[in-house]
Amino acid sequence: MSRVLITGAAGFLGSHLCDRFIKEGHQVVAMDNLITGNIKNLEHLFSLEEFEFFHHDVSNYVHVSGDLDYILHFASPASPIDYLKIPIQTLKVSSLGTHNLLGLAKAKSAKILVASTSEVYGDPLEHPQSESYWGNVNPIGPRGVYDEAKRFQEAMTMAYHTFHGLEIAIVRIFNTYGPRMRLNDGRVLPAFIGQALRGEDLTVFGDGSQTRSFCYVDDLVEGIYRLLFADYPYPVNIGNPDEITILDFAEEIIKLTGTDQKIIFKDLPKDDPMQRRPNIDKAREILGWEPKVSRSEGLKVTYEYFKSLTEEDLYKKEHNDFTKYIRK
Ligand code: UDP
Repeated sequence: MSRVLITGAAGFLGSHLCDRFIKEGHQVVAMDNLITGNIKNLEHLFSLEEFEFFHHDVSNYVHVSGDLDYILHFASPASPIDYLKIPIQTLKVSSLGTHNLLGLAKAKSAKILVASTSEVYGDPLEHPQSESYWGNVNPIGPRGVYDEAKRFQEAMTMAYHTFHGLEIAIVRIFNTYGPRMRLNDGRVLPAFIGQALRGEDLTVFGDGSQTRSFCYVDDLVEGIYRLLFADYPYPVNIGNPDEITILDFAEEIIKLTGTDQKIIFKDLPKDDPMQRRPNIDKAREILGWEPKVSRSEGLKVTYEYFKSLTEEDLYKKEHNDFTKYIRK
């Protein structure tokens, strides 16, 4: 049985990873500063002996006693609205935080997997995006704090591999959805479902012709699990190539929820990528992985989860207002 440190453990992806590693018989050391994570996501694990939780910000020195075999670094705000609210923490967790965790991995002779992102491709000029594409990122735009921190994270992780011989894995995660997303985190799927549940109009930014490709969380977790145990130190895209425009997506959510609300159009946030779709040839070749859950299946499960939330969750306003950041 191996011992695995998961940072960002109380977040959407972190908590699903905790579940998967526990299920596979590993010991999980979970860490989160709970700025954007939600401890409720881990509630069901606290009674287990093979689970420990540390309330800690990994941008500060990280101490874990005992052996560690693997580290998965998933701590970071991950929605545009969060990194606009807390830009410095966003920069720190993927730069200073990554450095701390690389140091810990080296000290423990552990393998580290870092969560990178399709945002390293910025507003991409190559479509679909393959790992060899270097990206089109505005370093000083509102998304720069996330995009550049994640790019630095990749560079630092690779340097520990080449210079110290550390075992590493880098996953570039494309838009992922599923139960435990924060209803009010500003991302498009919880935004639309939340609006439908509250009886509000659905806010499409721009003309809705921008595209995204949505991957169900179980598929993503499977890809990450395989990547951790593969011997491949270079970035691998994990995502679902099934691409859709945001306007069509809004219409899908209207059908799914049966709401009689309409679509309204708001300004497009600055630097909002116009297209995004992963090329997953590498994941197929190296991991024998591809997504299995269709959007219609995944959305059904996700909608059931959101419907089960309380009125309080539904109306807790963490505004969804991008107007300050509109594309000029
Ligand atoms: N979006 C939208 N309405 C919303 C929230 C988001 O039209 O209420 C759009 C957003 O402008 C972007 C896409 O949906 O084009 C995906 O946004 P999200 O914040 O989910 O993630 P991103 O992929 O941009 O990081």
